[in-house]
Amino acid sequence: MEDYIVRATAANTQIRAFAASTTELVEQARQRHNTSPVASAALGRLLTGGVMMGSMMKNPTDILTLQVKCGGPIGGLTVTADSQGNVKGYVNNPDVILPAKNGKLDVGGALGPGFLNVIKDMGLKEPYSGQTVLQTGEIAEDLTYYFATSEQVPSSVGLGVLMEKDNTVRCAGGFIVQVMPFIEDEVLDRLEKNIQNIQSVTAMLDNGHTPEDMLAQVLEGLDLEIVDTLPVQFSCNCSKDRIEKAIISIGKKDIQSMIEDGEDIEVKCHFCNTAYNYTVEELKELLEKSR
Ligand SMILES: [Zn+2]
Repeated sequence: MEDYIVRATAANTQIRAFAASTTELVEQARQRHNTSPVASAALGRLLTGGVMMGSMMKNPTDILTLQVKCGGPIGGLTVTADSQGNVKGYVNNPDVILPAKNGKLDVGGALGPGFLNVIKDMGLKEPYSGQTVLQTGEIAEDLTYYFATSEQVPSSVGLGVLMEKDNTVRCAGGFIVQVMPFIEDEVLDRLEKNIQNIQSVTAMLDNGHTPEDMLAQVLEGLDLEIVDTLPVQFSCNCSKDRIEKAIISIGKKDIQSMIEDGEDIEVKCHFCNTAYNYTVEELKELLEKSR
Protein backbone atom coordinates (compact mmCIF):
# COMPACT_ATOMS: atom_id res chain seq x y z
CA MET A 1 0.00 0.00 0.00
CA GLU A 2 1.23 3.49 -0.83
CA ASP A 3 2.25 5.93 1.88
CA TYR A 4 0.17 9.06 2.38
CA ILE A 5 -0.62 11.93 4.73
CA VAL A 6 -4.12 12.89 5.77
CA ARG A 7 -4.66 16.55 6.64
CA ALA A 8 -7.65 17.34 8.80
CA THR A 9 -9.34 19.78 11.13
CA ALA A 10 -11.60 19.15 14.10
CA ALA A 11 -13.90 20.99 16.48
CA ASN A 12 -14.74 23.61 13.89
CA THR A 13 -11.04 24.42 13.10
CA GLN A 14 -9.99 24.72 16.76
CA ILE A 15 -7.73 21.75 16.07
CA ARG A 16 -5.62 20.89 13.05
CA ALA A 17 -4.28 17.41 12.56
CA PHE A 18 -1.99 15.37 10.34
CA ALA A 19 -1.52 11.61 10.22
CA ALA A 20 0.72 9.57 7.97
CA SER A 21 1.49 6.04 6.95
CA THR A 22 5.17 5.85 6.01
CA THR A 23 6.01 2.14 5.94
CA GLU A 24 7.23 2.18 2.32
CA LEU A 25 9.36 5.31 2.58
CA VAL A 26 10.99 4.20 5.84
CA GLU A 27 11.76 0.79 4.32
CA GLN A 28 13.17 2.61 1.29
CA ALA A 29 15.44 4.64 3.60
CA ARG A 30 16.49 1.47 5.44
CA GLN A 31 17.46 -0.25 2.20
CA ARG A 32 19.36 2.73 0.83
CA HIS A 33 21.37 3.30 4.00
CA ASN A 34 21.45 -0.29 5.27
CA THR A 35 20.49 0.95 8.74
CA SER A 36 20.48 -1.21 11.86
CA PRO A 37 17.07 -1.70 13.56
CA VAL A 38 17.54 1.13 16.07
CA ALA A 39 18.92 3.44 13.36
CA SER A 40 15.95 2.52 11.11
CA ALA A 41 13.54 3.38 13.94
CA ALA A 42 15.26 6.70 14.69
CA LEU A 43 15.49 7.72 11.03
CA GLY A 44 11.96 6.44 10.34
CA ARG A 45 10.48 8.53 13.15
CA LEU A 46 12.31 11.67 12.00
CA LEU A 47 11.31 11.06 8.35
CA THR A 48 7.68 10.61 9.43
CA GLY A 49 7.69 13.79 11.53
CA GLY A 50 9.55 15.64 8.78
CA VAL A 51 7.21 14.71 5.95
CA MET A 52 4.18 15.83 8.01
CA MET A 53 5.89 19.10 8.99
CA GLY A 54 6.87 19.63 5.36
CA SER A 55 3.23 19.32 4.33
CA MET A 56 2.36 22.21 6.68
CA MET A 57 4.36 24.63 4.49
CA LYS A 58 2.55 26.61 1.80
CA ASN A 59 4.75 26.99 -1.27
CA PRO A 60 5.92 24.19 -3.58
CA THR A 61 9.52 25.41 -3.29
CA ASP A 62 9.58 25.57 0.55
CA ILE A 63 12.13 23.22 2.14
CA LEU A 64 12.16 21.96 5.72
CA THR A 65 15.27 20.48 7.33
CA LEU A 66 15.31 18.65 10.65
CA GLN A 67 18.79 18.20 11.98
CA VAL A 68 19.64 16.30 15.16
CA LYS A 69 23.09 16.95 16.59
CA CYS A 70 23.68 14.55 19.43
CA GLY A 71 26.27 12.86 21.60
CA GLY A 72 24.90 9.30 21.40
CA PRO A 73 26.32 6.51 19.20
CA ILE A 74 24.07 7.35 16.23
CA GLY A 75 26.11 10.56 15.88
CA GLY A 76 23.32 12.66 14.30
CA LEU A 77 20.45 12.60 11.83
CA THR A 78 19.33 14.85 8.99
CA VAL A 79 15.96 14.87 7.23
CA THR A 80 14.80 17.21 4.48
CA ALA A 81 11.21 17.48 3.24
CA ASP A 82 9.32 19.67 0.81
CA SER A 83 5.65 20.63 0.96
CA GLN A 84 4.72 18.11 -1.75
CA GLY A 85 5.27 14.87 0.16
CA ASN A 86 8.91 14.28 -0.78
CA VAL A 87 11.32 13.44 2.02
CA LYS A 88 14.89 12.17 2.31
CA GLY A 89 17.32 11.65 5.14
CA TYR A 90 20.29 9.87 6.65
CA VAL A 91 21.94 9.04 9.96
CA ASN A 92 25.63 9.59 10.66
CA ASN A 93 26.22 6.08 11.98
CA PRO A 94 23.82 3.59 10.34
CA ASP A 95 25.45 0.57 12.07
CA VAL A 96 24.64 1.50 15.68
CA ILE A 97 23.48 -1.50 17.72
CA LEU A 98 22.13 -1.10 21.28
CA PRO A 99 20.47 -3.54 23.68
CA ALA A 100 16.68 -3.21 23.81
CA LYS A 101 15.24 -1.03 26.56
CA ASN A 102 11.96 -2.22 28.14
CA GLY A 103 11.61 -4.58 25.18
CA LYS A 104 11.79 -1.69 22.70
CA LEU A 105 14.41 -0.28 20.36
CA ASP A 106 16.39 2.25 22.40
CA VAL A 107 16.12 5.29 20.12
CA GLY A 108 16.65 7.68 23.06
CA GLY A 109 19.86 5.85 23.95
CA ALA A 110 21.06 5.96 20.35
CA LEU A 111 20.63 9.74 20.22
CA GLY A 112 21.73 10.62 23.73
CA PRO A 113 21.80 14.30 24.73
CA GLY A 114 21.76 16.89 21.97
CA PHE A 115 19.89 19.48 19.97
CA LEU A 116 17.15 19.57 17.36
CA ASN A 117 17.49 22.22 14.67
CA VAL A 118 14.49 23.04 12.52
CA ILE A 119 15.28 25.07 9.43
CA LYS A 120 12.58 26.29 7.04
CA ASP A 121 13.72 27.78 3.76
CA MET A 122 10.73 29.64 2.37
CA GLY A 123 12.59 31.66 -0.25
CA LEU A 124 13.09 34.62 2.08
CA LYS A 125 16.46 36.29 2.60
CA GLU A 126 17.06 34.41 5.84
CA PRO A 127 15.66 30.94 6.42
CA TYR A 128 13.63 30.47 9.62
CA SER A 129 15.57 28.45 12.14
CA GLY A 130 14.78 27.20 15.64
CA GLN A 131 16.92 25.18 18.00
CA THR A 132 15.72 23.21 21.01
CA VAL A 133 17.37 20.82 23.44
CA LEU A 134 16.46 17.15 22.98
CA GLN A 135 14.02 16.11 25.74
CA THR A 136 14.15 12.31 25.53
CA GLY A 137 15.80 11.64 22.17
CA GLU A 138 12.72 9.55 21.30
CA ILE A 139 11.93 12.19 18.63
CA ALA A 140 8.13 12.53 19.11
CA GLU A 141 8.63 14.23 22.50
CA ASP A 142 11.43 16.33 21.03
CA LEU A 143 9.19 17.59 18.21
CA THR A 144 6.38 18.28 20.72
CA TYR A 145 8.80 20.36 22.77
CA TYR A 146 10.00 22.19 19.65
CA PHE A 147 6.42 23.13 18.66
CA ALA A 148 5.62 24.35 22.19
CA THR A 149 8.73 26.44 22.76
CA SER A 150 9.89 27.55 19.31
CA GLU A 151 6.57 27.94 17.47
CA GLN A 152 4.34 28.44 20.54
CA VAL A 153 1.86 25.93 19.15
CA PRO A 154 0.75 23.33 21.72
CA SER A 155 0.95 19.99 19.91
CA SER A 156 0.79 16.30 20.44
CA VAL A 157 3.14 14.22 18.29
CA GLY A 158 3.05 10.43 18.01
CA LEU A 159 5.55 8.54 15.86
CA GLY A 160 6.13 4.82 15.48
CA VAL A 161 8.33 2.42 13.54
CA LEU A 162 7.93 -1.31 14.04
CA MET A 163 10.60 -3.68 12.70
CA GLU A 164 10.25 -7.28 11.48
CA LYS A 165 12.51 -10.02 12.85
CA ASP A 166 14.46 -9.92 9.55
CA ASN A 167 15.14 -6.19 10.22
CA THR A 168 12.87 -4.89 7.46
CA VAL A 169 10.22 -2.30 8.33
CA ARG A 170 6.91 -3.87 9.39
CA CYS A 171 5.04 -0.58 9.69
CA ALA A 172 5.69 3.10 10.26
CA GLY A 173 3.59 6.20 10.68
CA GLY A 174 2.45 8.87 13.08
CA PHE A 175 0.32 11.89 13.79
CA ILE A 176 0.64 15.57 14.76
CA VAL A 177 -2.30 17.31 16.42
CA GLN A 178 -2.14 21.06 17.08
CA VAL A 179 -4.53 23.33 18.93
CA MET A 180 -5.33 26.90 17.95
CA PRO A 181 -5.09 29.79 20.45
CA PHE A 182 -8.91 30.16 20.49
CA ILE A 183 -9.55 26.56 21.56
CA GLU A 184 -12.41 26.16 24.08
CA ASP A 185 -11.64 24.50 27.42
CA GLU A 186 -14.06 21.60 26.93
CA VAL A 187 -12.57 20.81 23.51
CA LEU A 188 -9.06 20.79 24.98
CA ASP A 189 -10.20 18.57 27.89
CA ARG A 190 -11.72 16.07 25.51
CA LEU A 191 -8.59 16.05 23.32
CA GLU A 192 -6.32 15.50 26.32
CA LYS A 193 -8.50 12.61 27.53
CA ASN A 194 -8.45 11.04 24.06
CA ILE A 195 -4.65 11.27 23.89
CA GLN A 196 -4.30 9.66 27.31
CA ASN A 197 -6.49 6.76 26.23
CA ILE A 198 -5.20 5.94 22.74
CA GLN A 199 -2.93 3.01 22.02
CA SER A 200 0.67 3.67 21.03
CA VAL A 201 1.23 4.55 17.37
CA THR A 202 3.05 1.27 16.78
CA ALA A 203 0.14 -0.67 18.31
CA MET A 204 -2.35 1.23 16.12
CA LEU A 205 -0.27 0.62 12.99
CA ASP A 206 0.26 -3.02 13.87
CA ASN A 207 -3.51 -3.40 14.25
CA GLY A 208 -3.84 -2.20 10.65
CA HIS A 209 -5.01 1.33 11.47
CA THR A 210 -4.88 3.74 8.53
CA PRO A 211 -3.99 7.42 9.06
CA GLU A 212 -7.75 8.13 8.98
CA ASP A 213 -8.31 5.51 11.73
CA MET A 214 -5.56 7.07 13.87
CA LEU A 215 -7.14 10.52 13.60
CA ALA A 216 -10.58 9.06 14.33
CA GLN A 217 -9.19 7.74 17.64
CA VAL A 218 -7.21 10.84 18.60
CA LEU A 219 -10.11 13.15 17.70
CA GLU A 220 -13.01 10.95 18.77
CA GLY A 221 -16.09 13.03 19.55
CA LEU A 222 -14.47 16.20 18.15
CA ASP A 223 -16.08 16.40 14.69
CA LEU A 224 -13.12 15.28 12.61
CA GLU A 225 -13.11 16.71 9.09
CA ILE A 226 -10.64 15.30 6.58
CA VAL A 227 -9.33 18.14 4.39
CA ASP A 228 -7.21 16.18 1.89
CA THR A 229 -4.73 13.39 1.40
CA LEU A 230 -1.23 13.65 -0.06
CA PRO A 231 0.90 10.74 -1.33
CA VAL A 232 4.36 10.75 0.29
CA GLN A 233 7.61 9.13 -0.76
CA PHE A 234 11.35 8.90 -0.15
CA SER A 235 12.75 11.03 -2.92
CA CYS A 236 16.14 12.61 -3.56
CA ASN A 237 16.82 15.29 -6.16
CA CYS A 238 20.52 14.53 -6.54
CA SER A 239 22.04 14.10 -10.00
CA LYS A 240 25.48 13.75 -11.55
CA ASP A 241 25.24 17.44 -12.40
CA ARG A 242 24.61 18.50 -8.78
CA ILE A 243 27.43 16.31 -7.45
CA GLU A 244 29.70 17.83 -10.12
CA LYS A 245 29.00 21.29 -8.73
CA ALA A 246 30.01 20.03 -5.29
CA ILE A 247 33.28 18.62 -6.65
CA ILE A 248 34.03 21.88 -8.48
CA SER A 249 33.47 23.78 -5.23
CA ILE A 250 36.18 21.85 -3.33
CA GLY A 251 38.82 23.73 -5.35
CA LYS A 252 41.58 23.17 -7.90
CA LYS A 253 44.14 21.78 -5.48
CA ASP A 254 42.04 18.85 -4.30
CA ILE A 255 40.78 18.04 -7.79
CA GLN A 256 44.38 18.13 -9.04
CA SER A 257 45.45 15.66 -6.38
CA MET A 258 42.58 13.30 -7.32
CA ILE A 259 43.72 13.49 -10.96
CA GLU A 260 47.30 12.69 -9.92
CA ASP A 261 46.04 9.59 -8.10
CA GLY A 262 45.09 8.44 -11.60
CA GLU A 263 41.98 6.54 -10.56
CA ASP A 264 38.25 6.96 -11.13
CA ILE A 265 36.49 8.32 -8.09
CA GLU A 266 33.11 7.45 -6.61
CA VAL A 267 31.05 10.10 -4.81
CA LYS A 268 27.97 9.10 -2.87
CA CYS A 269 24.98 11.32 -2.13
CA HIS A 270 24.59 11.62 1.67
CA PHE A 271 20.81 11.60 1.47
CA CYS A 272 20.12 8.58 -0.74
CA ASN A 273 23.49 6.81 -0.99
CA THR A 274 23.42 6.82 -4.80
CA ALA A 275 26.99 6.47 -6.13
CA TYR A 276 28.26 8.68 -8.95
CA ASN A 277 31.46 7.80 -10.79
CA TYR A 278 33.93 10.22 -12.35
CA THR A 279 36.75 9.16 -14.62
CA VAL A 280 40.11 10.93 -14.58
CA GLU A 281 39.10 12.54 -17.90
CA GLU A 282 35.93 13.90 -16.30
CA LEU A 283 37.91 15.19 -13.31
CA LYS A 284 40.17 17.07 -15.73
CA GLU A 285 37.08 18.75 -17.23
CA LEU A 286 35.91 19.70 -13.72
CA LEU A 287 39.38 21.12 -12.96
CA GLU A 288 38.89 23.45 -15.95
CA LYS A 289 35.56 24.66 -14.53
CA SER A 290 37.03 25.13 -11.06
CA ARG A 291 38.67 28.33 -9.92
ZN1 LIG B 1 20.63 11.65 -3.46
